[in-house]
Amino acid sequence: MATPIGIAGAGFSGAVIARELAEAGYSVTVFEPRNHIAGNCYSERDKESGILLHRYGPHIFHTDKKHVWDYLHRYTEFKPYTNRVKAQSGGKVYSLPINLHTINQFFDKTLSPDEAKAFISSLSDTSIVEPVSFEDQALKFVGKELYEAFFKGYTLKQWGLSPKELPASILKRLPVRFNYDDNYFNHQYQGMPTEGYTAIVAALLDHPSITVKLGQTLTAEQVDQFEQVFYSGPLDSYFEFRLGRLAYRTLDFVEIRATGDYQGCAVMNYCDQDIPFTRISEHKHFAPWETHEGTVCYQEFSRLAEPEDTPYYPIRLLEEKKLLNDYVALANQQQNVTFVGRLGTYRYLDMDVTIDEALQTAERFLRCQTEKTQMPAFVISPLS
Ligand SMILES: Cc1cc2nc3c(=O)[nH]c(=O)nc-3n(C[C@H](O)[C@H](O)[C@H](O)COP(=O)(O)OP(=O)(O)OC[C@H]3O[C@@H](n4cnc5c(N)ncnc54)[C@H](O)[C@@H]3O)c2cc1C
Repeated sequence: MATPIGIAGAGFSGAVIARELAEAGYSVTVFEPRNHIAGNCYSERDKESGILLHRYGPHIFHTDKKHVWDYLHRYTEFKPYTNRVKAQSGGKVYSLPINLHTINQFFDKTLSPDEAKAFISSLSDTSIVEPVSFEDQALKFVGKELYEAFFKGYTLKQWGLSPKELPASILKRLPVRFNYDDNYFNHQYQGMPTEGYTAIVAALLDHPSITVKLGQTLTAEQVDQFEQVFYSGPLDSYFEFRLGRLAYRTLDFVEIRATGDYQGCAVMNYCDQDIPFTRISEHKHFAPWETHEGTVCYQEFSRLAEPEDTPYYPIRLLEEKKLLNDYVALANQQQNVTFVGRLGTYRYLDMDVTIDEALQTAERFLRCQTEKTQMPAFVISPLS
C-alpha cells in the first residue's frame, strides 16, 4: 500500500506538494475546510456577466523564477498581461509606481530623467541619517510631498497604523523610476492564466493518487493517521491558539456592478486618508482578451482580522514576531508535521515564491525518505 500523506489546505502550497508526492508514488489526501480549492487565489466565472472574478482580491502572476514559470505552463496557458496601476490622490489621477510621468504631472514639470533624479534628491530629507520608521525611509527617499500624496494615507488605511509606527524595512528600495516605465512589477515573466487560478489548482490535483476532501479540516488529532502531514493552514490554529492569536489584516470587498467600463483600468488605488477604501479592482480588465458587456468591481477595505475573518496579510511587527517565535518552538517539537505556505509560516508570499517553496518542500521530503531522516517542521524558517 502507498504511504499515506495528509495535506491541510488546497491552495497552491498544498496542491503543488500533493502533485509532486503523488507523482513520486505516494497516496495523498488533501483536506480543505472551504467548499472550493485554490485557497486565496480562487477565481470563478461570475454567473451573471461571465467575467472571471478573483474572489479574494486581484492576483497577477509575476516572477523571475524561470523554473516556476515553466512548471506552471505544464498546467495552464498564460496570456500576456502587464499590471499597470493608477492612483488617485488629491482629486487627480496618477500612474504608479511613481515614475517620470507621475513626477512631471504631480509637480507640473517636464523634467528629463537626470533632472528628475536631481530634483527628487533635492526634496529628500537629508536630516534623516538612520531611518527607523517607514515614514523616515519614505521622507529620505522621496521627500514630504510625494510621501504625503502616495504613501501616508494609503499605508495608514492598509495597515491601520501610522507610517511612524511601521519599520523602515517595509520600504527597502527607492520607490521611484526615472523613466516612463509604468509596469508595476520588475519581474521578467508576467501573465494571467487564461482560465484563472482555480483551473491551475484543479489540474494540479487531478491525479489518481490524490483525494480532495472539501469542507473538511485537518487537525492535530488526525496527524497519526498519516506518515507525514503538510500543514498550510494557520500555524496558530494547528495549536488551537493556545499561546494567543497571530494578528492578520483582513479585507472586506464591496461589489459594484455596472455596464460597459467602470474605471478604465484593472486597479485604481485611492491614496487619500479620507477615502475609506484602498483600491478598486475591475476584474474584466484582468482578462483583456475577453469581451463582456457587464462589469464587476471590488472596492477594497482593510481592517484588523477578528477570529472569524479570513486572514489576508500577516502583521509581522515586534509583538507578533515574539509570539511567532514561541509557535515556531512548539512546532519544532512536533513529529511528522511540516508547516508550509503563507499561513503555515505566517509570511506574505507571492504565488511564485509559494510554488517554489512547495517544490522545495516536496523535494526535501523525498530526500528525507531516501536518507531515512526526519522531515523538519519548517523547510523555510518563518523567522527569516
Ligand atoms: C489580497 C491579496 C492579493 C494578492 N495578490 C497577489 C498577486 O497579485 N500576485 C501574487 O503572486 N500573489 C498574490 N497574493 C499572494 C497569494 O494569495 C499567495 O501566494 C497564495 O494564496 C499562497 O498560497 P497558500 O496555499 O500558501 O495559501 P492559501 O491560498 O491561503 O491556502 C491555504 C488553504 O488552507 C486552508 N486551511 C486553513 N486551515 C486548514 C486546516 N486546518 N485544514 C485544512 N485546510 C486548511 C485554507 O482554507 C486555504 O484554502 C495575494 C495575496 C493577497 C492576500
